[in-house]
Amino acid sequence: MISKSANNDSNIPDGQHTITILGSTGSIGINALDVVARHPDTFRIFSLTANTKVEKLFEQCCLFKPRFAVIGSETLRVTLAEKLANKGSSTEVLCGVDALEMVSAHEEAGTVVSAIVGAAGLLPTLSAVNSGKKVLIANKEPLVMCGDLILQNAKKSGAVILPVDSEHNAIFQCMPGNYLAGNTAPGVTKILLTGSGGPFRELSKEKIKFVTPEQACNHPNWSMGPKISVDSATMMNKGLELIEACHLFNLSHNKINIVIHPQSIVHSMVEYEDGSVLAQLGNPDMRTPIASALAWPNRISSGVENLDIFDMKDLTFEKPDLDKFPCLGIASAAATLMGTAPTAMNAANEVAVDAFLSGRINFNNISETIDHVMSGHNVQSAESLEEILEADKIARLSAITYLDEKSVKTG
Ligand code: NAD
Ligand code: MG
Repeated sequence: MISKSANNDSNIPDGQHTITILGSTGSIGINALDVVARHPDTFRIFSLTANTKVEKLFEQCCLFKPRFAVIGSETLRVTLAEKLANKGSSTEVLCGVDALEMVSAHEEAGTVVSAIVGAAGLLPTLSAVNSGKKVLIANKEPLVMCGDLILQNAKKSGAVILPVDSEHNAIFQCMPGNYLAGNTAPGVTKILLTGSGGPFRELSKEKIKFVTPEQACNHPNWSMGPKISVDSATMMNKGLELIEACHLFNLSHNKINIVIHPQSIVHSMVEYEDGSVLAQLGNPDMRTPIASALAWPNRISSGVENLDIFDMKDLTFEKPDLDKFPCLGIASAAATLMGTAPTAMNAANEVAVDAFLSGRINFNNISETIDHVMSGHNVQSAESLEEILEADKIARLSAITYLDEKSVKTG
């Protein structure tokens, strides 16, 4: 039975968890709602948020009847509010970052699922952390930008951080029973962070240059939003995850090895000093890590089929190819430097991925842009939110300027 401790509202039935889902219309958000819908007595949706997908948010509001819905602009707010009013819905529709922060901090929301993509999720995620919520983090970019700040604030507020990223959730599951994110687990010597290698693992360096956004978004094992799909294709996703793991498990980057495992069955491993290596296995479906985090420290059904172990083909493990995937080297360097280096790297990556997805640059221009921004970045300590936001802003500007100049040169 899930304890009532996360609920602050006396009207909520015993044992029921009330949830805010930030980014409910995205790939993670939809999967989270799928799990929630399987357990109506255990979970209740308090608020749902989206940027632009008004139809999807409308549909979700009709089904889950949240108290609040938050959308990205005033125009969309009016559209959604009218549609919901016509249905007789009592959901209140808001817009803007303040509203995202409010639904994350609200006393009625015991659990916040952080599933916005990119740095846009930083302020609402921090708001949930600072308010002492149970925070399920899929949105890895804020952890990359300022993991220290997030974990420190969680310690102060009593927030419990539960990783949803499949690898980090796997690592978390392989940690000792009473483990809380942000601490160093006793006896752990190494983390083996697995990754499929993305859709271009077997493509030559020459051919990778000419891949299209459509090819990059066609991941062999996972169905995900466009930004993380491109990150998986450049392998920046594994770089972001390396930094994410440093913060979540309080380990230096040299204690985390990236392992290419194309079958995506082993979701990561933890090595202990006594020679044990613990792994978490499962079908590649995000509902497993979501359900594991939602029910933590208990277990609930997720809708994911168990592995048929006798049907397993070879499970293989290889070293990553740093030459073919330069983003991995850039991320390793940023993980060594820490401070604002990962913040700048993340910002440059977001700008470059956006440019690639909208057809403005080639695939290999992504790593070139990040490399350019990092070579000009003056690494500072990343102690305050202001310093982090400033580093993010400068790096974005540097990436935009580089790409503008590049298009002048090539165009
Ligand atoms: P997605 O693009 O499918 O969905 C993103 C969600 O964020 C949508 O609901 C969108 O409306 C919202 N959003 C986008 N921009 C916003 C903005 N400026 N303000 C407010 N809301 C905004 O992305 P996704 O694949 O669900 O990924 C979400 C996060 O989870 C990412 O950080 C990603 O790295 C991480 N993650 C995803 C997966 C996966 O399987 N999809 C796995 C691990 C981690
Ligand atoms: Mg992952």
